[in-house]
Amino acid sequence: MTHASPITPTIPLDTDGVFHGFLKLPYSRDDSAWGAVMIPITVIKNGTGPTALLTGGNHGDEYEGPVSLFKLAASLAATEISGRIIILPAMNYPAFKNASRTSPIDKGNLNRTFPGRPNGTVTEKIADYVLRYLVPEADLVLDMHSGGKTLDFVPFAAVHVLPDKKQEAACVAAMQAFGAPYSMMMLELDSVGMFDTVVEEAGKTFVTTELGGGGSTSAERVAIADRGVRNLLIHAGIVSGEIEQPEQTVMLDMPDGTCFVASENTGLFEPCVDLGETVKAGDIIARIYDTERTGVPATVYTAPRGGILACRHFPGLIKTGDCLAVIADVVPA
Ligand SMILES: [Zn+2]
Repeated sequence: MTHASPITPTIPLDTDGVFHGFLKLPYSRDDSAWGAVMIPITVIKNGTGPTALLTGGNHGDEYEGPVSLFKLAASLAATEISGRIIILPAMNYPAFKNASRTSPIDKGNLNRTFPGRPNGTVTEKIADYVLRYLVPEADLVLDMHSGGKTLDFVPFAAVHVLPDKKQEAACVAAMQAFGAPYSMMMLELDSVGMFDTVVEEAGKTFVTTELGGGGSTSAERVAIADRGVRNLLIHAGIVSGEIEQPEQTVMLDMPDGTCFVASENTGLFEPCVDLGETVKAGDIIARIYDTERTGVPATVYTAPRGGILACRHFPGLIKTGDCLAVIADVVPA
């Protein structure tokens, strides 16, 4: 038997108007015997129409989504929309408050926890609630990521290759409407437990993003997020207006696992190409230096394929097994 979720919203999810409140998740602990994790949520509704579910902070150290969604929640009036927008700007709220990818409570990586469990850990309870109570309400789901503290990306919106080609086409159209500088057909090396996977399996139109990284954000990247969210809401028919496309949108593809370069060394990281630069197979993309002594030749990493550098390791030091780079194919227009 499936348990009901212990999470309760403090606001109505289906009433016209703008409601700011919380998803209240009971969490009894040393400093708060009958305490709760209070996950901020905004619901904006006006009449009938489609529902968009907008999420950020699935990983707690990725900031374009939270900045853009806290801003949207504070600024959008119900009269500006037709339908409903459910905004969860910091979905894994304990991780967001801790500025870490995973939750400090249970080490849960929310984006590897779906479908979650109503009677599991705090992170599992968040996953279960979002999947069973919010996703079924949505026609369109946007989950905004970036590289967090350890990766940095060229700004892109992304969808996955799906078995249902009609659903895939709807996702691609929504991704193109978002209008990031890059649009990616994304390959996941490890899709089990991802929000993407369960939302796609539920038949929804799903778009994700990787808009930057490094554990912070920039004015340019927030502007891309803001414009993309608005474009997507216009595309869905929830907000009226004109979609604003960037001057250039580059279509990218990650056709197979050779796109990913993993570090086989631990040491000091020298990037030799920057994000968005074009490389040919065999070009030097990075060097890793021994951090224990001088005079040791660097280990040289070359591009296993041609394409553009879509993602790179961010911190100055690197470990064996870290993702060093992702090289994506540019799809000719
Ligand atoms: Zn993420």
